Amino acid sequence: MTSPICEEEIINAIHQIVGPSSKKEPVALHEPYFLNTNAMKYLKDCINTGWVSSAGSYVNKFENAICDFTKAKYCVGLVNGTVSIRLALHLLGVKPGDEVLLPSISFVATANAISHLGAIPHFIDIDKRNLGIDHKALESRLKTIAKMKGDTIINKETGRKIAAVIAVHIFGFPAEIKKIKNISLNWNLPLVEDCAEALGSWRDEIHCGLTGNIGTLSFNGNKILTTGGGGAIITSDPMIAEQARHISTTAKIKHAWEYDHDQVGWNDRMPNLNAALGLAQMEILDETLSKKRKIFNSYKEVFSNLSGVKLIEEQKNTMSNYWLVTLSLDIPSSSKAKLLKNQILSKAHAKGLLLRPLWKPLNKLPMYQNSPKGLLNNSMEVAKRLINLPSSPKLIP
Ligand SMILES: *Cc1c(COP(=O)(O)O)cnc(C)c1O
Repeated sequence: MTSPICEEEIINAIHQIVGPSSKKEPVALHEPYFLNTNAMKYLKDCINTGWVSSAGSYVNKFENAICDFTKAKYCVGLVNGTVSIRLALHLLGVKPGDEVLLPSISFVATANAISHLGAIPHFIDIDKRNLGIDHKALESRLKTIAKMKGDTIINKETGRKIAAVIAVHIFGFPAEIKKIKNISLNWNLPLVEDCAEALGSWRDEIHCGLTGNIGTLSFNGNKILTTGGGGAIITSDPMIAEQARHISTTAKIKHAWEYDHDQVGWNDRMPNLNAALGLAQMEILDETLSKKRKIFNSYKEVFSNLSGVKLIEEQKNTMSNYWLVTLSLDIPSSSKAKLLKNQILSKAHAKGLLLRPLWKPLNKLPMYQNSPKGLLNNSMEVAKRLINLPSSPKLIP
């Protein structure tokens, strides 16, 4: 028997990949990367031409670049990932007082977007292997609490309508989206894929976001590609794309000068400046992805020498963008794992190594603690064991 893994060994292994760190010169979890891009050139062009706001050629170019890369038919650039989810749910008919099913493990923004519409998050357990919503848990929860009433699905326990499902592709690992899609089809529920962390991730050669009705992206500062702040929806449905464009401006009826608006507009279209920054990184996305894979492989090598730890890996028939490398403390006792996780985090932060734990399960946050939920055993379990490691593209030359 080897001796049990300790925090020192894990931190040393991380230092082998990221080099030295200190409070003064910390190693971040994920930094933007503009080296050898046209970022400055495109930004200058926006400033020189005066096209800085939410119209301009870079918005179209950026959207087209996303379509080319993902093979989406349509892409609509928006101001951030949260409003992209909110708009997607709105376009699919989610109304105040409805419930939306989502995994209990995600960044808080997924649940917030539901709340912004006056709807209620309803939490479902995750699959430990890919950290996405578990299709079996989704199906069994629906069988337990849902009943059909005409075309609508009602939660028998709350009396509210269940209006949509959101799957999230966590840290770039594709969820089992076909199985999730089948369940949502059986129950006549629209499906949104939160791909904020999954640009460059594929399952069965289909880019994340294109199996459900709408996929949503985020280009926040720490994502695989950043526009400062930004988001988008991708879809193959022309009506959805058209509505998204219409509502995300001022819902103005086309006319050279008249101010005629046919519904409430949201004004959350992506500005040209942000799109310019995004286009510059789309041009190097393949390189970025290959760097991410190399970072993952280097971590994998150093951790293969340690017992009691493993990295979450892409599953068969999937390709992860490896946005954030994720370490799992794989020791039998979950309470010991939790203790070790906290020791690692506090020692690492004291040394300027800015690791992060998995998010707190959303049902544990004060605003969501009374939300409806299924059994969440896997979510509670993995939350004790996972740590994200520094994964910036600049770690690889
Ligand atoms: C970042 C993120 C969002 C929100 O995106 P913003 O651009 O920050 O609003 C939503 N969902 C997930 C899973 C994310 O990681």
